[in-house]
Amino acid sequence: MTELRPGVILDRDATLIDVVRDEETGTVQVAFHPKQIRLMPGVLGGLAALADAGFVLAIATNQPGPAKGQISVAAVERTNRALVAMLAEHGIEIAAVEVCMHHPRGGPGGVSELVRACDCRKPQPGLLLSALRRLRLDPARSFMIGDSPGDVLAARAAGIGAALVFSPHRCELCPQRHGPTARPDLMGAQFDEVVAAILAATLR
Ligand SMILES: [Mg+2]
Ligand SMILES: [Zn+2]
Repeated sequence: MTELRPGVILDRDATLIDVVRDEETGTVQVAFHPKQIRLMPGVLGGLAALADAGFVLAIATNQPGPAKGQISVAAVERTNRALVAMLAEHGIEIAAVEVCMHHPRGGPGGVSELVRACDCRKPQPGLLLSALRRLRLDPARSFMIGDSPGDVLAARAAGIGAALVFSPHRCELCPQRHGPTARPDLMGAQFDEVVAAILAATLR
C-alpha cells in the first residue's frame, strides 16, 4: 500500500487567475477564454515552492456559468486546459482539475442537466474529497487555498487545512462577514504569502 501524500487544492478564480473586469459596464465575471487568463501576483513562485516542498497540486473550481446559460461547457473546459498548459510551461504540474458546473437554480438558456442541487459545489466538499481520493492525498497534511468563505468552508468539510488569499482591498469578499465558521487557519494578502504561511506551518 502506497503512502498518502500531502497536497494543496487550489481555487481558480481570484486565487490562481484574476477575474475579468469590464471597465465600460463595471461588471466582473470569470475568465471564459484562454486569452483572458491572467495569473494573480505571486502564483508562479508560490506554486513552484509548494511543488518543491513535495505537495501534489490540484484545482477545485465552481463554474456555474453553463448551468446559468452564461458560458458553454466547452469554454470552461478550454479555459481550464489552457491554464494547466500555461502552468506546465513554467514547470508546474497540476495533477487533477475538479470542476462543479452545477447550479441549484440555473438561468435562462442554461444546460438543464446541470441545474440541480449537488454535493460538489463549494462550500460543499465534493470536489475536494474527489481530489483527495483520486490523488491519494493525506487530509492531515493537505490544504485548500482559496479566496472566498466557500473555499474555507469546503476545506473544513473535507477535513483539510483552510488557507485564504485575502486582500483587504476586496471587501466584498470579507471572510469576517460570514462569521467565525469561515475563519481560515492561515491567511496572506497575496498567493505567495499564503504559501509561505503553509510552508512555515508544515516544516516546523
Ligand atoms: Mg475564487
Ligand atoms: Zn456540483
